[in-house]
Amino acid sequence: MDSLPTSIVVLTGAGISAESGIETFRASDGLWANHPVEEVATPEGFAANPQIVYQFYNQRRRQLLSPEIRPNAAHSALAKFEHEFEGDFLLVTQNVDNLHERAGSRKLVHMHGELLKMRCLNSRLVYDIAEDIDFDTECKCCRSPGNLRPHIVWFGEMPFHMNQINRALESCDLFIAIGTSGNVYPASGFYQTAKIRRAYTVELNLDRTGSSFDQHVYGPATEVVPAFLDSILQRQGQRAHR
Ligand code: NAD
Repeated sequence: MDSLPTSIVVLTGAGISAESGIETFRASDGLWANHPVEEVATPEGFAANPQIVYQFYNQRRRQLLSPEIRPNAAHSALAKFEHEFEGDFLLVTQNVDNLHERAGSRKLVHMHGELLKMRCLNSRLVYDIAEDIDFDTECKCCRSPGNLRPHIVWFGEMPFHMNQINRALESCDLFIAIGTSGNVYPASGFYQTAKIRRAYTVELNLDRTGSSFDQHVYGPATEVVPAFLDSILQRQGQRAHR
């Protein structure tokens, strides 16, 4: 892309958090942290065996809150970019971890929910949660057990913030996908929505995913993300000095 973009949408996936120590979802064998996704990431799995689902997200939450898990250079580069870029910016993450916000990102939406939140099945109120929960945990609003579920978008459910995301995709002139396999719908179609509106599309990933972006940059997120974003900020700086 030769001209300086004026409006950017960035989509991140599990790959951006891989170098922070959080396992990606391996679509090829249908496992997330060694669990079949049907068991731990579908409404049917939760209905069939809620205790397994609670335990799975308790483990993911404990891991996320452990001192070893920290934002990496790619998360930090996005947070810095958001503050320095002078155009419109939206960061859409498929990740349920909180590493973007811990790095300082604020113009951020979690389209697949958040590990550190639970939702009441009756009132749909959403609560912050840091500790383990199970079938016997009392909901804060109903005061009855068994009414809480992870605030995670499971397969077959509608992602959050889709109106805001579609508006941003339809008006952006640069779309960047970072560390996402392109296997999970509807995020997998975002680059096409952006392309139809003539945005330039870029993929930053460890490996080629098969999607036809205008530009592909391969390498670990901690290297390619800071370099790519810095190149845009440098162009912005050069324009200001002209
Ligand atoms: P995915 O696991 O399907 O794909 C990960 C992608 O990241 C792959 O294309 C891989 O090549 C790339 N990758 C791996 N390591 C990388 C690195 N160091 N640098 C750059 N790229 C790297 O991930 P997805 O497309 O986000 O879909 C997975 C789904 O599972 C999402 O919906 C998400 O909600 C959920 N999930 C979230 C987390 C998390 O919150 N951190 C972790 C696992 C799964």
